[in-house]
Amino acid sequence: MSDLDREVAGIRCREVLKLLSSYLDGDLTEAEARRIDDHLRECDRCEHFGGRFSEAVAALRHELSRAAPLDPEVARRLRARLSDV
Ligand SMILES: [Zn+2]
Repeated sequence: MSDLDREVAGIRCREVLKLLSSYLDGDLTEAEARRIDDHLRECDRCEHFGGRFSEAVAALRHELSRAAPLDPEVARRLRARLSDV
């Protein structure tokens, strides 16, 4: 079982990776977005997938920990970072 198949908060790391840009775009349902929120809060692995992605996740977790809506500027930078994943 690869690290990406680890399931946290009912969603696997690989699904989080796949959905992350939609998440940033606000294209997910509320339920999907909430699962990703929960996953990123609890999953240590998502910070270890590699430089570019771990930075994005660290920024997201920082945002989530403030319990505030994602700053549009942060979202823009994360999207740019993830655009070639
Ligand atoms: Zn994860």
